[in-house]
Amino acid sequence: MRTTGVAVLTSVVLLVGGAACSPAGDDAPWPPSTPAPSATSTPAPSATSTPAPSATSAPAQPSAAPGSPTVGHVVAISVDGLNPRAITELGPSGTPTFHRLMRDGACTLDARTEREQTRTLPNHTGMLTSRRIEAGRGGHGVTYNTDSSTRTVHESAGEYVSSVFDVVHDHGGSTALFATKTKFALYRRTWNTNGGRDRVGADDGTEKIDRFVVDTDDARLVARLNTYLRDRPGEFTFLHIALPDVVGHDEGFMSDRYLTGVRATDELVGTVIDTIAGQPDLQRDTVVLLTADHGGDGLSHSDQTKIANYQIPFCAWGPGVPAGRDLYAMNDTRRSPGTARTTYDGPQPIRNGDLGNLATDVLGLPEIPGSELDADHDLVIFGS
Ligand SMILES: [Zn+2]
Repeated sequence: MRTTGVAVLTSVVLLVGGAACSPAGDDAPWPPSTPAPSATSTPAPSATSTPAPSATSAPAQPSAAPGSPTVGHVVAISVDGLNPRAITELGPSGTPTFHRLMRDGACTLDARTEREQTRTLPNHTGMLTSRRIEAGRGGHGVTYNTDSSTRTVHESAGEYVSSVFDVVHDHGGSTALFATKTKFALYRRTWNTNGGRDRVGADDGTEKIDRFVVDTDDARLVARLNTYLRDRPGEFTFLHIALPDVVGHDEGFMSDRYLTGVRATDELVGTVIDTIAGQPDLQRDTVVLLTADHGGDGLSHSDQTKIANYQIPFCAWGPGVPAGRDLYAMNDTRRSPGTARTTYDGPQPIRNGDLGNLATDVLGLPEIPGSELDADHDLVIFGS
């Protein structure tokens, strides 16, 4: 049932400007009914890989709660350097899309980054793997924020690190990553070049990211994403928009130009929401998750002890997600952190690192092997 990346690319090229065809997978059941074996990934044949610990990698059966809608697609959006204060200051007129997500979906403007760092690669790796950072405590080990062009996440952790891409792909789904920073090449090297064997159901191969696009022009990247969503959207799609971060480093986070960048980003995200809402097939079964890797104030965001850096938004929008709800009010198992920079002990806030496992949860798939954040799929976004 899966379409190869080459075929997807070809059909995108052929269909630019033309009529959209129906999304992939219409003729196939999702989630697939094949029972999941005990692990969704095995180590890549690399000397530095070791298997994930079995205690944390035994997936449950598809775990959609009774009454949950059938979700066929997740579109995850990370806005690089989005300080939630910008959404509040700009208001509904300046950021209509972010306010639309809050009005029609469930959100909090008081989510948290990873505790250890408030930088881009460590936090995006957390979103994709639902792990903390510190490798000695089961984290993904990506403590660096530049891509070496040789290192992988597996090497950084000292073991094979599964991602949301592994779980969706190995269960027969299709995945995509659209990013505006070239250092995201880390993820192609990690989960395509060095992806693990697929031991779930049919062998879908070792390349876990079916469509991988890096384009440093935010508007052009989002246009390419929208074409992909109109054409043959995969079950899991991740979009990274760098614009607020780039402007923040140039002129200062929360500066006038930064706020202008947030407005422009809101418009870009609006085109994604409109693309989904404009297609009945997608609108019916697509959940959008939106968060950030970090905030920012002044010219930097690297001090992980500052609330301006570790406080971020987290939103869910789509069928079954109640309108206008606060995510903390919906989640007894999570604790609103107030102003605190929470540790990983005790009741947890909602973190950007929940994103990977929240995606597997709403798609009816098991948790990411070796993951910690939302590994029991307790984070609730459906209800009334
Ligand atoms: Zn930055």
